[in-house]
Amino acid sequence: NGLKKHFPLKSGLFGGKKGYVYAVDGVTFAIDKGETLSLVGESGCGKSTVGKAILRLIEPTAGEVFLAGERIDNIPISQLRPMRRRIQVVFQDPFSSLNPRQRVRDIIAEPIVNFGLAANGSELDDRVAELMDKVQLPRDAMKRFPHEFSGGQRQRVGIARALAPGSDIIICDEAVSALDVSVKAQIVNLLSDLQDELGLSLLFISHDLAIVEHLTHRVAVMYLGKIVELADRRTLFATPHHPYTKALLSAVPVPDPTAKRQRIILHGDVPSPINPPSGCRFHTRCPFVFDRCRSEEPQLRRVAGGQMSACHLDEVPDVAVIPKAA
Ligand code: SF4
Ligand code: MG
Repeated sequence: NGLKKHFPLKSGLFGGKKGYVYAVDGVTFAIDKGETLSLVGESGCGKSTVGKAILRLIEPTAGEVFLAGERIDNIPISQLRPMRRRIQVVFQDPFSSLNPRQRVRDIIAEPIVNFGLAANGSELDDRVAELMDKVQLPRDAMKRFPHEFSGGQRQRVGIARALAPGSDIIICDEAVSALDVSVKAQIVNLLSDLQDELGLSLLFISHDLAIVEHLTHRVAVMYLGKIVELADRRTLFATPHHPYTKALLSAVPVPDPTAKRQRIILHGDVPSPINPPSGCRFHTRCPFVFDRCRSEEPQLRRVAGGQMSACHLDEVPDVAVIPKAA
């Protein structure tokens, strides 16, 4: 609720003025039990920072985080264990997030031991074997080291480790981005099977809308530290509202060669989060920009399609919606 993360800049960078990177600047969403919410946007939009702030890998600057109604953003670090047990993470790079010197068995056993979830060695072995089955890895893989596996298999180990403490929510931060397309599909299918089986909630952080479409229930689109559109999957992909969402979607190839999708090509780079544009943060790149966008910040509110969108456009029906010349 209203989550913010402003990273202070070293003084002196701005001629002595105090500066901040406004990485996350007031983000609000909820995830239901058994639901997947995807956080999408270009790199640097703040989506990973949201994940890290929820996990308390970084301290949020402002806002609140609740887990099943209980506030968890202000729990002292020394008392984070019960929360850590319930929220786990799978990172992009299984090559660096798995300890190369540990056998797979020990990697998966570690959280079970740390949280004191096995009474003895044989219970621990049973639990690890069960997790290997869940992520569809052969049990004899337990004796091997991460480098002996392919990227996709390593990510299965990462998922088994995330499931090990009996978590309720898994944050997948670009968890399939480094994998080959066919392997991506396998891991996405695995996540969605595990969700059905265990009632897991997933926060799926990705820059790849084509992948998101296959597993998500809802999508939150981020731009420069803010959510600009929040919609269920069907609405977002069929009738996107925000110009930024439309631009992102128009870059996703459509399998049907006869299908037409309006192409919106964005010019210029994402502006710096150190000094974000006034008004609508997207105004420097929006093909539909008009005067009001430069001075007044649009709020996230419900629009005709049923989704939430932060854009002035349909508040002013008399403004002609004609893209400006590129
Ligand atoms: Fe574009 Fe204006 Fe809407 Fe921002 S508020 S997305 S600049 S039309
Ligand atoms: Mg990231």
